[in-house]
Amino acid sequence: VCPVGALTERDYTNRLLDDLANPDKVVIVQTAPAVRAALGEEFGLPPGTLVTGKMVYALRELGFDYVFDTDFAADLTIMEEGSEILNRLTRYLDGDKSVRLPILTSCCPAWVNFFEHHFPDMLDIPSTARSPQQMFGSIAKSYWAEKMGIPREKLVVVSIMPCLAKKYECDRDEFKVNGIPDVDYSISTRELARLIKRANIGFTLVLDSPFDNPMGESTGAGVIFGTTGGVMEAALRSVYEIYTGEPLKNVNFEQVRGLSGVRRATIHLNGFELKVGIAHGLGNARHLLEDIRNGQNEYHVIEIMACPGGCIGGGGQPLHHGNSDVLYARANALYREDANKPLRKSHENPYIQKLYEEYLGKPLGEKSEMLLHTHYFNKSID
Ligand code: SF4
Repeated sequence: VCPVGALTERDYTNRLLDDLANPDKVVIVQTAPAVRAALGEEFGLPPGTLVTGKMVYALRELGFDYVFDTDFAADLTIMEEGSEILNRLTRYLDGDKSVRLPILTSCCPAWVNFFEHHFPDMLDIPSTARSPQQMFGSIAKSYWAEKMGIPREKLVVVSIMPCLAKKYECDRDEFKVNGIPDVDYSISTRELARLIKRANIGFTLVLDSPFDNPMGESTGAGVIFGTTGGVMEAALRSVYEIYTGEPLKNVNFEQVRGLSGVRRATIHLNGFELKVGIAHGLGNARHLLEDIRNGQNEYHVIEIMACPGGCIGGGGQPLHHGNSDVLYARANALYREDANKPLRKSHENPYIQKLYEEYLGKPLGEKSEMLLHTHYFNKSID
């Protein structure tokens, strides 16, 4: 169920079937990293079976016009969030007293909702980078739609997410242009499994199919967003190289991996000790935030995910009843996919580089700020 306890599951499968049957619509889909590590369980495959190619095949069979990967947008998130980390850190080290640290990740909508309600005095410390789901929708309905000559009103962007809070995130007003959402709606891993079963697709037997490009290409850094510690590790891979100007010899930051509720690590950046923290579960997040509020901060950067294990344990995934073996198996599946990717650092994704060259300009530039960043609201009852 929803980790903030405020959301009930909304089923969008009938709406999706209507859109797929409508010849006037172009319906595209993005799939979050954690989905591929768990969807197979709904078809009797063991936890940790990667079904990326089968999932893409099934989505094409269901009738989507293009099948893309949220991992592409996760790489884009690192470009923006990583630049924000570097910007704040450099100003802080230069003695700028207006800079507040730590910077907090902002890809998890349940976590964003939580701090808007409970920590409204700290709205200036989370990164302003939108989540990968929302970055994808924004780029799909601007850059890609313009390239393809598809009017915004004809384009339907659907996301397959491990998450129930993502349904609410699509509805936030700041992610709409003239009342039309960037991501029209999100369906969960379990809803997708039901659709595949309804369509009688022999999921375990189908061949692998590749994602469409350009928004289907990702690095290993984008893949590991699906597990706790993954966003931090992906950011560190890029931040290290950009800050030090040196190639990273080992991209595996084992110190930030695992399932303990709160993890700490110190990363050495040319003599500077970057202190990072990772928390999953909102109870752990609350303790960290209360320490910061009380002036006991020991971190420069913190990653927080609302669900135990991060998105692999999301409320829209096949039920795992708190079984940590299942979470480990799903996390390991993502680390395997990462290890097998030819590129493992977000800033090396050639399609992301092209997107900046052709359209966005630079990270944190005017267009990037408009399309890829957001702001937060005080939602406390007081
Ligand atoms: Fe959704 Fe992932 Fe956050 Fe869970 S951790 S609420 S699945 S974004």
